[in-house]
Amino acid sequence: MPRFHVSGSTSKEGWEGVARPLAFAYLAGMTEPALIRPPMTRKPDWIRVKAPTSIGFAETRALMRRLNLATVCEEAACPNIGECWTKKHATVMILGDTCTRACAFCNVKTGMPRAVDQQEPQHVADAAAELGLEHIVITSVDRDDLPDGGASQFVKVIEALRRSTPSTTIEILTPDFRNKSERAVEAIVSARPDVYNHNLETVPRLYPTIRPGARYYASLRLLESVKKLDPTIFTKSGIMVGLGEERLEIHQVMDDMRSADIDFLTMGQYLQPTPKHAKVAEFVTPDTFKAYAAIARAKGFLLVAATPLTRSSYHAGEDFARMKAAREVQLAQA
Ligand code: SF4
Repeated sequence: MPRFHVSGSTSKEGWEGVARPLAFAYLAGMTEPALIRPPMTRKPDWIRVKAPTSIGFAETRALMRRLNLATVCEEAACPNIGECWTKKHATVMILGDTCTRACAFCNVKTGMPRAVDQQEPQHVADAAAELGLEHIVITSVDRDDLPDGGASQFVKVIEALRRSTPSTTIEILTPDFRNKSERAVEAIVSARPDVYNHNLETVPRLYPTIRPGARYYASLRLLESVKKLDPTIFTKSGIMVGLGEERLEIHQVMDDMRSADIDFLTMGQYLQPTPKHAKVAEFVTPDTFKAYAAIARAKGFLLVAATPLTRSSYHAGEDFARMKAAREVQLAQA
C-alpha cells in the first residue's frame, strides 16, 4: 500500500511538501484522518518551556565542553534542557556526535563519524563524579560503521562508571544493533546496567518514513532478548506521538511491548526540530496522554511516564527509584 509521507525528510513546502502528498493520499483512497491531517506548526501552551538561563545550566554545559562530551540534550534540541541541566542532569551521547542513519524525526547530524574516542569512558565517569549523579543515562548515535555497532564502548563506559562512581545507577539507551552479531547485546547485558532502554519511537506503519533504517520487530526482539538474558535488568522503551499514528496502533504497540516483557513505557509529544524534519501531525492533549497512561498501566507496565514533555531520560533518576519500588511491591505480592 502506498504511504503518505506524513512528514517528509525535505524542507519543501507548498505543493511538494504538503499539497501533493495530500492529493496522492486522497487519490489512493487513504482517507484515514491521520493520513490527510494537515501539518501543525504552532505549539500549544502546554508545550512552552522557559529559556535555559540558570547558573546550573551554564556549569553543566561548561563541564561537557571541558570533557569533550556530546549530549543528546543539545544534539536532539530537547525542550527540557533548561530544567534538566539546572539540576545537573544531562544525558551523555557517546561514540561521537555524528550518526550513520538519518531518521526523519531526529536532529542529530548524519554523516561519517570520527574514530571512537578512547578517553570517552573515563570522561563520562569523570562527568558523573563531578555532577554528583545518583543515576546516569548514557545513549549513543547509531554506529553502523563499527563491527559491533559500538557495543564495546557501552561496556567500557559502564565499567568506568562502576570503578569511579560505584553507587551511581546506570541506564543505557542503545541503538538497535541491526545487522550486528547477537554478541553485541550480550556483551552489554553482561556488563549489567541497571536499566536497558531502547526506543521503538513510533508505530510499525510509520517506520518506512520516520525510522527507515530500523525494523520494528527487530527493536522489539532486542528488548525481549535483554530480558531473557538477565531478568533482573529493567527494560524500558518509548514512543513519540503526534506523527500521524492512530490510537489503536498505539494500543497495539503497548501490547507488543508487554509481550516482550518491557517494564517501563515512556510517551511524549513529537516536536519538529527543524523545517526539514518530519512535520507534527497533531499536538496530543495532556488529557489524552493521561488516558494513554491509564491504558498502559492496565496492560501491566511496572511504570508509565506519559506527558507531552516526557522524553526517555526525563526524570530518569526519580523514575528508576519508583520502578524499583514497584518491582518490590510486585515481588512481595507474588
Ligand atoms: S529530558 Fe533527557 S535529553 Fe532532555 S534535557 Fe533532560 S536529560 Fe537531556
